[in-house]
Parts: sequence; C-alpha cells; structure tokens
Amino acid sequence: MKKYDLVVIGTGPAGEKAAVKAAYFGHKVAIVEKSQKFGGAMCVTGTLPSKTLKETALYFSGKYEKGLYGIDRDLDREASVEDFMFRKNFVSKSEGEAIETNLNRHGVDIYHGVASFEDPHTIKAGDETLHGDYIIIATGSYPFQPKEIPFDGKRVHDSDTILEITRFPKSLCVVGAGVIGCEYTTIFSTMGAKVYLVNNKDKILPFLDQEVAEALINSMRDSGVSILFNTSIKDIKVPDNENEMIQITEESGQTFEVDMFLFAAGRSGTTKDLNCEKAGIEMGKRETIVVDKMYQTNVPHIYAVGDVIGFPALASTSADQGRVAVAHIYQMQDLDHLPSFFPYGIYTVPEVSMAGVSEDEAKEKGLNYCVGKARYPDMARGKIMGAKNGFLKIVFDRESLTILGVHIIGHIATEIIHTGLMLVEEKKTLSDVIGTVYNFPTLHDLYKYAAYDGLSTLTGHKVKI
Ligand SMILES: Cc1cc2nc3c(=O)[nH]c(=O)nc-3n(C[C@H](O)[C@H](O)[C@H](O)COP(=O)(O)OP(=O)(O)OC[C@H]3O[C@@H](n4cnc5c(N)ncnc54)[C@H](O)[C@@H]3O)c2cc1C
Repeated sequence: MKKYDLVVIGTGPAGEKAAVKAAYFGHKVAIVEKSQKFGGAMCVTGTLPSKTLKETALYFSGKYEKGLYGIDRDLDREASVEDFMFRKNFVSKSEGEAIETNLNRHGVDIYHGVASFEDPHTIKAGDETLHGDYIIIATGSYPFQPKEIPFDGKRVHDSDTILEITRFPKSLCVVGAGVIGCEYTTIFSTMGAKVYLVNNKDKILPFLDQEVAEALINSMRDSGVSILFNTSIKDIKVPDNENEMIQITEESGQTFEVDMFLFAAGRSGTTKDLNCEKAGIEMGKRETIVVDKMYQTNVPHIYAVGDVIGFPALASTSADQGRVAVAHIYQMQDLDHLPSFFPYGIYTVPEVSMAGVSEDEAKEKGLNYCVGKARYPDMARGKIMGAKNGFLKIVFDRESLTILGVHIIGHIATEIIHTGLMLVEEKKTLSDVIGTVYNFPTLHDLYKYAAYDGLSTLTGHKVKI
C-alpha cells in the first residue's frame, strides 16, 4: 500500500486546485482520475467546451458584426460540424494538458482508475491501493437522465453527448431553462437551428433579476427561439430513419417536430462508484455528499468539494472550495472561507451576469432600495461595437447609496461584472463610482452612467433612459 498525506479523487477544478495547493506546501499528495482526460466537466463536458462553442457560433454567424462595417464578411463556404467543434476540441485538449502539467510540476502522484473506499483511510484506484491521512472527494456530477426519455447519444442527447454530434441539428428541442439549457438554446439558435425551449415553470433562470431575465427572453424570441412555458414533455417518438423528424407531444397534447432533442434539467453527484458506505460518509439528496462550512464530511479526515456537494456547482466556486478544504486540513491562514458574494456568469447570446442582490430580492426583503440603469447602445464603446440592446442595472440603498447588486445583460457581461462584484463586496456607494475615472471608451462607462441614473431617479430630475 502506498501512503500519502492526502489523496484527492477527481481532477476537475475542485480536485486539481486542492491537490496542487497541498503539494505546493510540501505535503505528499496523490490524485486519482477515472478518465483518460484531465479536467472533469470544466474541461471535457461542460464549462470550456460550451463557452468555446458559443464563441464559435458568434464567429461563424457574424451575429454581432452584421451591417457594422458597411460590408459583411462572408465565409466562402458553410461551416461544417467539424469547423464548429474544432476550437472546442483544441481548448479542451490544451486545458487538459495544462492540468496534467500543473499536477506533475507540483509533484502530485497521478493514478488512473476508478477510485473507491475500502475503509475510511484506504482507496482502491485500479490496481493500486492508497492510504490517505486525509481524503478529498472531488468527483463532480453527471447529467440526470429520466427513464422516459429515449437517450441514444445520436439525436436524443444530454449535456455530455450534445458535444459529440456529428452533424448540425436543423431544429432542436431543449428541455430545461436553467443555465445549461439557456446557453445551448442560444448557441444552436445563433448557428441557425430552429430551437424550442421547453420549461415547466413560467420563468427562466429564476435566480436572475427578472428584468434581465425578461430581456433575455425577448432576445431569444427575436432570434426565433420558441419558448414554451408551464409545460413538459409527455411523449417523444424517435423514428429509426434519421431523415424523419422526432415527434414531441407536450402535456397539453400539443405536438411539434424536431430534428434533435437535448435534455438539460438537473444533475446528480458522481458517488455511485465510491462505496461511501465503507467509509461511513453521510449522503445527501441526488447522490451528493453532506459537508459543513469547511467542506468536512461527518468523517473528520474526509472532505468533499465541488459539484459532488451540490449548490452552487460552478467551476469557479469548486476550485476555491478545494483550496479552502486544504487550508482547513493543514490549518493555513490564507483562505479560511469562500466570500459571501460570488458572481454568476451565464454565457448565453447575449451574456448575462450578476453579483449581489436583485431588484426582486430587494423588493421581497422590504429593503429601502432604488435602481439606476445604463444602456449599451448609449455608450460610446457600445456604439463602436454596434450594440443594439443590453443594459447594466445597479440596485442600491436609497439612504446610504451603498451598492447592493449589479446586473448586466449584453456583450462580455461576464467580464465587466467583476467591477460590480468588488463594489458590492466592498460596500461602495454611487458616489465612489462617480468619483472613479474609467478608460474611455469602455463598457465600464455603464457603471458611471447607471450611477448617475440612480441619483437622478432619487432627485426626480431624470435626463436620460
Ligand atoms: C454544459 C455545462 C456548462 C457549464 N458552464 C459553466 C460556466 O460557464 N462556469 C462555471 O463556473 N461552471 C460551469 N459549469 C459547471 C462546472 O463545469 C462544474 O461546476 C465544475 O466542473 C465542477 O468541478 P468538480 O471538480 O467538482 O467536478 P468535475 O469537473 O466534474 O470533475 C470531476 C472529476 O472526477 C472524476 N471522477 C468521478 N468519479 C471518480 C472516481 N470514482 N474515481 C476517479 N475519478 C472520478 C471525473 O472523471 C472528473 O474528471 C458548467 C457545467 C456544464 C455541464
């Protein structure tokens, strides 16, 4: 048996960052990965592949540049599915290699195989048996597949197999209006497919500021997406002949036809293979692992981080959870908890991002709040870019002018949100924003003009918006 200070299971962002941090500070670390590819959902089936496909769809469609320079750039041929996947494959491979290099550079021993507990300190990993004084579980999550959906990985997909398509769908039904469902809806719609988005509620992305969610719905509809609210799928008939359309029947009995189907509603923790019962680990809903604030399970030397513990299930937070767990194990003082605010980035077309309190939340909590807004098309940089819509909204305290939340829909919203995140975290006021000089022309002007707009709402002397 090989002995380690720490054994980490999984090389996604949670596992990688935990392993390299412990190794950096001199501990003997092993990491176990069941896949031949490094990087988990972040690298192989989720974050980076979908984000790269979004950029690819924008490039091939020329959506943002159309009409901007007087002449439109025509591709001399239609983009093939290989073209569409080229950059995704490149980014995924290159980031996977970077993770392997990072682990090696830090002296982490890598084992390939499915890890499972033999007892609370012993992990079986393929042919090897590893002892860990401490163990971190970072095995991620997998897409939920309801029994009634005939998944075949050819025309009926989950969010993993949609990345393996060998031809473009002419039309697509997406079930689930969460982050993944909305992102793929806009990616395939941008590539020219007719998309139906099926949602069993009357809202998409309910955690968003609803004014932003409405703007996203309008933008999807303008791009030809049909959003079917308050409905679910009763039946799917997939003909043997690929040239024939898939017949979809809604709960109401209404029917429609599509070329492909994507189910993107819900994920479960990847814990089946781990034999957690042999270590006495307490399990939660949807095959997740129960942890406390320091990511410690009920077995004190075993921690769990990332998607396997459920919400918020983001690559960004998973990586930091791994770091926090290691800081707790080795009593380091550098990162003892995750910040209370973190940004949400939704890579739809257009992008959406938020930090802090939404207007709906402020209303619900009875806060004495006010809002200020600025529109992309009114900013000089927005004009250069040809922005036709999009806005930034600041939610702030009416008395102290403290910024409580920032919400953005528009180009690179996921980038410019970080200024908003700092404003919220550091409890800055509208006056702080107004007193800051930003580069010109940049989209950061949105902050300044949203702040002025907020003040003018308070004084009742509104000039713009
Ligand atoms: C389509 C999609 C888009 C996304 N977009 C974003 C985004 O834009 N931004 C964002 O922040 N997040 C995004 N996410 C979420 C993000 O990918 C995950 O939150 C993140 O990858 C979770 O990291 P993790 O390390 O917990 O797990 P994972 O990345 O899933 O890694 C788990 C690893 O553990 C391995 N493993 C599992 N079981 C075992 C075992 N028994 N033995 C050995 N190895 C095992 C797996 O092979 C895998 O490599 C997206 C996810 C999806 C699906």
